[in-house]
Amino acid sequence: MLLGISLPAARHILMWSLVYGAIVWLDMRYLSAILDVNTVTLLNISSGLAVVLFRHLGMGMILPLILAGSLGHGLAAIARIESLHLATGVFFGTFLTLASALSAWLWQKYYPHCLDTVRALFRFVVVGCLFPAIAMVAIVAIPLYIDDQLVHGRLQFLTIEFMMTYTTSTLLWVSLYTAWQRLGIDWSKLTWQNTGYVAAIMTLTLISFSVFPGAIYIELALLIYIAFSGHWRTLLVSLCSLIMVTIVMVPFDMGAFAIPNLYDGVLALLIFIFTTVLTSISISIQVMEYKNAVAARDSWQRKASLDPLTGTVNRYGLLPELAIEYERSRRTRYTYTVAVIDVDNFKQFNDTYGHSAGDRVLQDVAAEITRAVRQTDLVARYGGEEFVIIFRNTASDDAYHIAERLRQRIAANTSQFDNQLLTYTVSCGLSESQPSDSHPEQVFDRADDHLYTAKSLGRNRVVVAPNTAE
Ligand code: GH3
Ligand code: MG
Ligand code: MG
Repeated sequence: MLLGISLPAARHILMWSLVYGAIVWLDMRYLSAILDVNTVTLLNISSGLAVVLFRHLGMGMILPLILAGSLGHGLAAIARIESLHLATGVFFGTFLTLASALSAWLWQKYYPHCLDTVRALFRFVVVGCLFPAIAMVAIVAIPLYIDDQLVHGRLQFLTIEFMMTYTTSTLLWVSLYTAWQRLGIDWSKLTWQNTGYVAAIMTLTLISFSVFPGAIYIELALLIYIAFSGHWRTLLVSLCSLIMVTIVMVPFDMGAFAIPNLYDGVLALLIFIFTTVLTSISISIQVMEYKNAVAARDSWQRKASLDPLTGTVNRYGLLPELAIEYERSRRTRYTYTVAVIDVDNFKQFNDTYGHSAGDRVLQDVAAEITRAVRQTDLVARYGGEEFVIIFRNTASDDAYHIAERLRQRIAANTSQFDNQLLTYTVSCGLSESQPSDSHPEQVFDRADDHLYTAKSLGRNRVVVAPNTAE
């Protein structure tokens, strides 16, 4: 613990400082050198890495990363530009790292789950990326001004380039990091389809920076397609590969961005990458939000239409099914049968054995009904001790045989509760759909009438027509 900052494990400090220092050096020594951009790197991949390292390992990384960053930057600077002193390189490296620390701090403080919504993403871009980038420009401009290198237009260019490179890098690394944490990246789930998408993006980038610049537009369309199809992980890996291939290719050929004025070309390239990253991640987040909402709705809908005691469908689940069957029978020559089953003298049963024994009976009756019918039929608990079956695509003759067998089985069954053997019977009313039916509940009402007939005829029986009894 130093100044309230706790230090991560020594091997993490050493390993990540070395990685960071090396990437800063690579950024400065080669990537920016090739395009002759003096103070900033083309795609500044080190800044975003530092933001994620601060976030993941804590602010205890501040001194090690400043040391690694300033060394990497300083050594690359003197190797590249003779007139540049080590001190100037160290100065830039230090502030580059400090800007990342500021980003990480803002991220941690204001947006602990920064990429959960598109709104948070944009706010993070403004506060966590653009703001530190502007702060960095202001600081970098000071020594340039003192050295009299701040020629006309340079400051504007620096501002735009810093904002673009810094934001793109931070956004890319942060989104990868967030996805990794959210999903727990499991590479074994990388299917052929996913790998194919990533390979296609890499190939298209390669083609657009070598043979056919127009391929960049096909690539954009493909990225948007991947984002819309909800492959969050594939999208991020694709974006990473797009940027990596771009970094490798740009020194040889600027592709669609080979504009006579180098600065304009670089700017156009950065804007392309920036908008591509931001747009596709936004789409992806929206799709993810939508999918989550649909899944939550479906799961609640399922739960809300199930009876917790018996696990069968409840009244809310039954009514739409009755309506669906009714509509089907009106459109085609289709017959279905509805059965209403009621446990006999259940009130008395409860009074004798207790409510919990009654509950056990309801569960056993529901299980017995479910076993008796086909999987495609619907079993519902309509109310207290009343169950409904929809025998789909079935005439009442066939339904009668199933119901009668079920009634006999229930009458022969015993339920066990607290060492008591319980016996009970059910009555059942059945009715088939009729072409003359004018609303979905009509067939149900007839079955219910038949149930009352069964009760009045002495219970423990199945009734299929107004004056018939078995
Ligand atoms: P009948 O043969 O005419 O159907 O007589 P019954 O006593 O079964 O009819 P009634 O409708 O008068 O009584 C239904 C009883 O079902 C009343 C209530 O105590 C009981 N009941 C309703 N829901 C539940 C439940 O969830 N658990 C238990 N244990 N009993 C319930
Ligand atoms: Mg009853
Ligand atoms: Mg009843």
